[in-house]
Amino acid sequence: TSVVSTNFLQTLINDYRLSKNDITIESQLEESNSLVEVDQFHMTTALLNILDNAVKYGGTEILITSKTMNNQLQVSIQDNGIGISKEQLKRVFEKFYRAENQDIHNIKGLGLGLYYVHQIVKAHEGSIVLESKLKHGTQVLINIPIKKA
Ligand code: ATP
Ligand code: MG
Repeated sequence: TSVVSTNFLQTLINDYRLSKNDITIESQLEESNSLVEVDQFHMTTALLNILDNAVKYGGTEILITSKTMNNQLQVSIQDNGIGISKEQLKRVFEKFYRAENQDIHNIKGLGLGLYYVHQIVKAHEGSIVLESKLKHGTQVLINIPIKKA
């Protein structure tokens, strides 16, 4: 792991934007001097998994926000895609689970992405929550502890 500025998110988002011309990616990142201790490879891969889901499951507009609060870096990734029903939302962190959201038969995947993301967030002593409304969109909220000085 390495200790990085919470501003590492900006670079990640800028790079992602370059790869997705047809998607509107908006970001509201709070400037901060805080540091987080992260495994950069795994944390980056985890966040890219979430962004890829947002696009894959119908999102055309993605909003990414971050702020530091209660000694946590709080990141939110919100999309306007197909959403997940309340019942199925409970299971998305299970290995190989894929929700039966509409049109999913056209969307390929193994159901491993969020399982991996969950493991990575837990390994950082963080937390992750999904909120979703079918046909409206999905929001992923991640908290990662700020490194104390
Ligand atoms: P993989 O990521 O392994 O390629 P996957 O995308 O199907 O496959 P996960 O990323 O683990 O698997 O997601 C689990 C399921 O949760 C998905 O199959 C999908 O039904 C649902 N899901 C995840 N993210 C979203 C999202 N942003 N909008 C709607 N549904 C989602
Ligand atoms: Mg996925």
